[in-house]
Amino acid sequence: MRASTVLRVLLSIQSMQVRGFHFDSEGVIVDVVPTWKKPRCGECGGHCGRIHDRRERRWRHLDIAGMKVQLRYKIRRAQCDSCGTVKTEQVPWSKGVGWYTDDFEERTAYLAQQSSKEDGQRVLARELEDCGANHRACRIALS
Ligand SMILES: [Zn+2]
Repeated sequence: MRASTVLRVLLSIQSMQVRGFHFDSEGVIVDVVPTWKKPRCGECGGHCGRIHDRRERRWRHLDIAGMKVQLRYKIRRAQCDSCGTVKTEQVPWSKGVGWYTDDFEERTAYLAQQSSKEDGQRVLARELEDCGANHRACRIALS
């Protein structure tokens, strides 16, 4: 089994392909793409036409074996036929406009709700360090 296949299985995100990865001092950066070719509108979900531009973005994902995981992708902005304007495309790993995957958001929100303030801060220590308490779930854990 190829390493990219193992990573795809470990990341457990539907409609996403792993194109490559590399390690840095903090963990692993995984290059990913949606399985669909044409961009889908991030607001209405409709198919988009002409691509306006692409910008590299990273999303923090759940750790694997204690390593920080970031997904990297050149997200497209494209003309949405339904909305009539240029929109940022939808990606299968994040519904929001933030820098976190849906799995990461759900886990941190769950931990923030289920843990005492001290336990939540201890478990979320690295996430708190990364986001500087700008992340909604981390703010809840701190409050
Ligand atoms: Zn749209």
